[in-house]
Amino acid sequence: MTTPVLSPWIGGAEHPVPGARLGDVHDPATGQVIRKVAFASRETVGKAIEAARAAFPAWRDTPPLRRARILARFRELCDANRDELARLVSQEHGKTLPDAAGSVQRGVEVVEFATGIPHLLKGEWSEDVARGVDLHATRQPVGVCAGITPFNFPAMVPMWMFPVALACGNTFVLKPSEKVPSTSLRLARLFQEAGLPPGVLNVVPGDAEAVDTLLTHPGVDAVSFVGSTPIARHVYETAARTGKRVQALGGAKNHAVVLPDCDLEFTADALVGAAYGSAGERCMAISAVVAVGGVAGPLVERLAARARALRVGPGTFKGVDMGPVVTAAHRERIRGLVAAGLAEGAKPVVDGRTLRVPEAEAGFFLGPTLLDHVTTSMIVYREEIFGPVLVVLRVATLDEAIALVNANPYGNGTAIFTGSGRAAQRFEHDVQVGMVGVNVAIPVPMAFYSFGGWKQSLFGDLHVHGTEGVKFYTRTKAVTSRWPEGSGTGGGSLAMPTLG
Ligand code: NAD
Repeated sequence: MTTPVLSPWIGGAEHPVPGARLGDVHDPATGQVIRKVAFASRETVGKAIEAARAAFPAWRDTPPLRRARILARFRELCDANRDELARLVSQEHGKTLPDAAGSVQRGVEVVEFATGIPHLLKGEWSEDVARGVDLHATRQPVGVCAGITPFNFPAMVPMWMFPVALACGNTFVLKPSEKVPSTSLRLARLFQEAGLPPGVLNVVPGDAEAVDTLLTHPGVDAVSFVGSTPIARHVYETAARTGKRVQALGGAKNHAVVLPDCDLEFTADALVGAAYGSAGERCMAISAVVAVGGVAGPLVERLAARARALRVGPGTFKGVDMGPVVTAAHRERIRGLVAAGLAEGAKPVVDGRTLRVPEAEAGFFLGPTLLDHVTTSMIVYREEIFGPVLVVLRVATLDEAIALVNANPYGNGTAIFTGSGRAAQRFEHDVQVGMVGVNVAIPVPMAFYSFGGWKQSLFGDLHVHGTEGVKFYTRTKAVTSRWPEGSGTGGGSLAMPTLG
């Protein structure tokens, strides 16, 4: 049987490219290549940008309420096809079906938010800023926007971007991760079925060639990126140099600070979910626990018992808690980092490196790993591992814990577990991180708030979705107007105009 080949989606149709470079798309649970994907070349990405440019004037001039109605139909189609979307996510990424369905749901919630666009685009109006002079400000779309997305959320992260961009009247070229291209292509078809005109949303799977074309092409006005920090920095610098508006979300090392007065069983439950859910391949995964004072011993004991009890297997199997990691190469990298951590003195409490899954021997599986007595100089702490590895650092006080979190170069998410309102309030105020949980391990804001980190977790200033997303995908126009009635004096003043 020949392996199916996925083609770009340009101008409302599949766009096969004979002779294109092909990439392998794996099912990480079986290790098999299930599809090939045609990598979009500079020329193909150029065609997608042209299609988006051509579609822009009519889409911009479509009243926001009509755009919102198409979004509402798209939301209904996402709901109707939720199981299929979750299955595609799970099949190419590896996460369990319930986890995949949850991630689709979080994406659909952004579509729901974006259906409120007529309200969100309301501007400002001031009457009589000077005698007979009115001033109003309105928000207009930016033009052609590009989105470049990572492998770990095949539906949700693209849906952080294009629903809001399109609702605002922009057209879009999406470059999904080449590891998980099917979901984005499916979403583009569903959007077309919902009534989206051809060319408004285009999808060009590919690698660095496609990305660099989007970053430098004069036909692209704004770039949203989500992925690792080195690429986020490259995207930010390159696109900004060519005059584009950029938001580039990067990697993370998310800490949970645990105080002795926390609800211990609840905290252990929450941390196991946050560390090992999606095999640790979430940018909001908790990967470092900072245990304060005497809580470390009892906490580690509970975390270990829960980690050992997790069932690892194919994400589509019932009763499985944790699926495989995304590729064989990623698994090797994680194993290498754990080995380096042990060589540096970390204590292995649970070691998942050699776990076997008898019903899926060729899958890219790893068991949960828990390392204790980790210090900030160790590689397992310094690197973003992005796998099912949780490290525990021990400190004496809340002050030390906050200083430790703030010294980390990343600032995506963090959480505190405590029964003390005063400690939580201090943490919330002092911590240098963009998203904070109080007894909430994964504080991902709802769609009607905005998502984004600080420091090396975000290059740019505006976060995604919510009102910051609307700001990113629009620009302000301020209009000052008067309607004179034969009041000219035959002269005219050259002085800076002031209130008159
Ligand atoms: P990645 O940086 O390798 O890839 C992200 C995107 O960039 C992909 O579309 C990829 O094709 C492209 N890309 C990769 N190398 C490139 C290069 N040299 N030049 C140009 N483009 C390139 O990230 P990933 O492995 O797909 O995803 C995991 C990373 O994403 C982790 O670091 C994770 O923390 C991060 N992430 C962050 C957030 C967030 O909101 N901050 C959300 C999800 C994932």
